[in-house]
Amino acid sequence: MKQKDIAALLDEPACTHNKKSKSGCAKPKPGSAAGGCAFDGAQIALLPIADVAHIVHGPIACAGSSWDNRGTRSSGPRLYKIGMTTDLTEQDVIMGRGEKRLFHSIKQAVDTYSPAAVFVYNTCVPALVGDDVGAVCKAAEERWGTPVVPVDAAGFYGTKNLGNRIAGEAMVKYVCGTREPDPLPDGAQRDGMKIHDVNLVGEYNIAGELWHVLPLLDELGIRVLCTLSGDARFREVQTMHRAKVNMMVCSKAMINVARKLEDAFGTRWFEGSFYGVQDMNNALRDFARLIEDPDLSERTEQLITREEAKINAALEPWREQLRGKKVLLYTGGVKSWSIISALQDLGMTVVATGTKKSTEEDKARIRELMGEDAKMIEDGNPRALIDIVRENHVDVLIAGGRNMYTALKARVPFLDINQERDFGYEGYQGMVELARQLALTLNSPVWEAVRAPAPWQRPVREVVNG
Ligand code: SF4
Repeated sequence: MKQKDIAALLDEPACTHNKKSKSGCAKPKPGSAAGGCAFDGAQIALLPIADVAHIVHGPIACAGSSWDNRGTRSSGPRLYKIGMTTDLTEQDVIMGRGEKRLFHSIKQAVDTYSPAAVFVYNTCVPALVGDDVGAVCKAAEERWGTPVVPVDAAGFYGTKNLGNRIAGEAMVKYVCGTREPDPLPDGAQRDGMKIHDVNLVGEYNIAGELWHVLPLLDELGIRVLCTLSGDARFREVQTMHRAKVNMMVCSKAMINVARKLEDAFGTRWFEGSFYGVQDMNNALRDFARLIEDPDLSERTEQLITREEAKINAALEPWREQLRGKKVLLYTGGVKSWSIISALQDLGMTVVATGTKKSTEEDKARIRELMGEDAKMIEDGNPRALIDIVRENHVDVLIAGGRNMYTALKARVPFLDINQERDFGYEGYQGMVELARQLALTLNSPVWEAVRAPAPWQRPVREVVNG
C-alpha cells in the first residue's frame, strides 16, 4: 500500500474530530503495533465472514498468533475457523518464491474447500520484499474462477484501528456492489408492513449475541442485508450497497465503509450500540428515524414499551444486588464507552475506563457518559490497574481475558468482556445475562475465602474453633 493511501485512511473526513480541527487520526508511533498490528486489525475485522477462505500471506507466526482467537459465531459454514497461511520461510524470501507460493495456496484453498471467495492478507515480510499481492489475486481469480480479494494490511502500516479501516476499504473497493440482494421470500410482507433493508457495520456476533437482536429487527420488518462481519456470508457483503441505512455498531473503526457507501449510494448511517437497555432503545429508534416510515416508528415504540416492561421485571432482582457497586472497565476501543451505558443502566458506577485502543470519537463518547473529568487509562499495566482498584475501592474489574490473572492475584472479582468470552451481552436479553454474570462474580463465596487470613496467620484458638 502506498504512503498516500495510508495517509488518506488516517485522514478520514467523516471523523468528527477531523471536521473540527482537521487533525486526522493519530499517526502510528514506534511500538503502536504492540497489542495488535494493522494486519491483526484487518484480519479480525473480516475473519467472521464464515464462507470465505482467509489466507495469511506471510511467515507462520503472523497467522499463528491470531487464528481463531475470536468467540465470533456462525449459524452455518465453519470455513472461517480454519487457519490458512502461505508459511513463508527465509528460503522463499531469498529465492523470491513468495508470489508463487501464494498462487498455489489459493489453488489449494479453492480445490479443497470450494469457498465463496478467498481473502488474502498481506503481512510485513512480503510487503517489504515487494510481492505484488494484488496481481497474484487477480491472476488467481481469473484462473480458478473464484473471487480473490487482496487485503493489503502489513503490520508496520500502523495500528489495529488502521487495520480495521484497511479491511473496510477492501470490502468497499472489491466486494460491495458486485451482486443484487435476493428478492424477499414469499410471505415476508405481513399485513402490508414494508420491509426495509439495513446493514450492521462493525458487529461481530461474539458468543452469538447478535441473535438476541435479529428477532426484534425481523419483527419490525427490518431486513439485515449484511453484517460486517459477524455471521456474514460473502454474497451478503456483495449486496451492502442496497441498504437504506447503515448502523455503525459500537465503533467508528470502519467509519470509512459507512462514509463511502453514503458518498456512492446515498446510504444514511448512524452510530449506535446494542449494549444496555437505553442504547438498544436508541438504536431501534435511530433505524426508524432514518428510514422515515411513520408506521415503523409507531411499531418501534410499541416494541420498546413491551420489551422495557419485560426487561425491567427481569432485571429488578439483579439491580438490587448491583446498585452502587464500583467498576473499573479496561477494554479496547469499542467497548470503552458502549459498555459504560449498560453498566450505568444497572445502577453501577464506572470509576475509570481504558482508552488504549480508543479512537478520538470513543473518548468523546466516554466524556459524554462519564462527565468531563472521566478517568481514562492509557497504560493499563497490571500494577497501574491494581492501584486504581485499591484507591477507588473498586468492586469488580471488567476487562479482557489477559487481565484475569491480574484481578485474581489481587483477589478482585473479574468479568471477561473481550472477544473470547462465552456469553453474549447484546440486546435486552443480553442485558440480563450481563447482570447475571456480574452478580455471580461479585457474590462468589471464593472472594471471602481468599481474602480471609490463611490459617497460619490466625491465632491457634480461632483456627481450632473454626
Ligand atoms: S504482520 Fe508484521 S507486525 Fe503483524 S504479526 Fe506479522 S510480522 Fe508482526
